[in-house]
Formats: sequence, C-alpha cells, structure tokens
Amino acid sequence: MLLHVKNVSKNYNDQPVLRDVTFTVQAGESVGLIGASGSGKSTLSRCILGLESIDAGEIRLRDLSWQTASRKEIKSMRQRVQAVFQDSSESFNPRWTLTDSILEPLRHFRMIEPSEEATKLAHLCDIVQLPHACMTSYPRELSGGQKQRAAIARSLSLNPQLVLLDEATTALDTLTQHHIVEMLQSYHRDQSTAFLIISHDLSVVSKLCDRILVLSEGMIVDAFHCHELFDGSRHPYTIELRDAFVEKGRFLNGLN
Ligand code: ADP
Ligand code: MG
Repeated sequence: MLLHVKNVSKNYNDQPVLRDVTFTVQAGESVGLIGASGSGKSTLSRCILGLESIDAGEIRLRDLSWQTASRKEIKSMRQRVQAVFQDSSESFNPRWTLTDSILEPLRHFRMIEPSEEATKLAHLCDIVQLPHACMTSYPRELSGGQKQRAAIARSLSLNPQLVLLDEATTALDTLTQHHIVEMLQSYHRDQSTAFLIISHDLSVVSKLCDRILVLSEGMIVDAFHCHELFDGSRHPYTIELRDAFVEKGRFLNGLN
C-alpha cells in the first residue's frame, strides 16, 4: 500500500470539512478524486502533502505517517509525495529561470551533482514535452500550458512515488488541457509513479484514472472503477456529475 488515508476528519472553525475519509492508493495506480467546488478536495490534498494537520484519523505513506513521523522521516515523506496545483505561477519564484525552479527540489535534497544537472534537466523537459530553449526563461515569459508542464517536470524531479495533481489542467484552454492529459497518460504507462488526480472535471479524471472516488461535503460518497461509471448503482451525486459530463460531450460533438 502506497497511500492510506484512514478515517480522516478535519474542521475549519468548528465546521467539518473532511468527515471520516478513508481510501487507499496502491503503488503505480492512478486514482481520481472528483467533487464539486467546496467539497474539500484541496483540503484533503494539503493534508496528504503534510501541509495541514488533521483532527482525527491517520495519513500514511508506506510505513510512515505524518502524525507520528520524526523530522528525518518527514524529510523522506516529502520526497515520496509531490504536487502540482491549478496555478503554478504562485509556486515559481519570478526571479528564477525554469532551470533553477525545476532543479530546486533536487538541489534542496542534495540529490544531484552540478555535473549531472544538464542531463537531468533535458530528460525532465523531454518527459513533459517542453522545448529545452524554455529553460532559460522566467515564469512570466511562459504560457499557462508551459508553466503547468514545468510544474509537472519539477514534481517528477525527485522520482516521487505519488504525484498529486490538484486541478492541474483546470485553468488551461481545452486543447492545451488535452495535450497535457495525453502527456500524463503516456508517462503513466511507462512509469511506476502513482497519481492522485483531483478535479471537478470528470472528462480529465476518466481519461487518466483506473479508479474514481467521489467527495461530497467532505465525505467519500462513491468509489468505483472507471468502467462502472454507467452502472445503475451509482450514487445520485455521481449520476449528476456523469449526466453533466455526457451533456458536455454531446455539446462538443455537435449532437444537440
Ligand atoms: P475544493 O478544493 O473541493 O473546492 P476546499 O478544500 O478548497 O474545496 O474547501 C472546502 C471547504 O473548506 C470550503 O468550505 C472552504 O471554504 C473551507 N476552507 C478551505 N480552506 C480553508 C481555510 N484555510 N480556512 C477556513 N476554511 C477553509
Ligand atoms: Mg480545490
């Protein structure tokens, strides 16, 4: 078991935001987490990253848990799980070139020698299909899609076991989103990295994930394999999301 979220609850100002959330992600798996805006997805992702405390339950990454880890163990947990958020602008230092931003985690953890940097950088660029020429650019000189690709490159730099993508393609235009999803699909086919794909958009999640969890008002109300999406036994909230997704598909195909 790679990630085990066990009976996790969290409140903000005495209001429950996560309620008894339990699920697992196996090594190499790609799991989707969908839910409306405000359902608690980003809170859950910050808890999994160890950026927020929880009020009850436990979050384990393999043998280590944020709740009981020592400082040294926390360092190793940080290398195991990486994240990409909706707007990468905030996570890039505007005064750094992409080279420095992408290599920062490796330098921080002293996992790279200066002589290895160029090769590693070229490799990461190739994975995310970003032109090598972008590496001397500053964040403001990049398009939204290039910035998200750079953020994905940085998240993969430490060879994490789990990458959490929280609405990572939401702010992009449809075509750019499509290209990034295809790039992630081909990366996931070849690698053993697990993905937790968080989105309100069922079309993104259904392309990238084997299994889908549905969060509503801080509770997991449905969990199923992608091929079970159209089963009769789905939760009413899943059916609502599914119908909106089907409608959008019809609209895009010009069938309406
Ligand atoms: P989602 O990502 O699904 O849109 P969030 O996890 O961002 O949902 O938010 C879930 C709920 O928690 C919302 O009601 C939001 O207002 C509240 N919330 C999120 N972060 C904080 C915070 N730092 N302080 C107080 N309330 C918060
Ligand atoms: Mg969110």
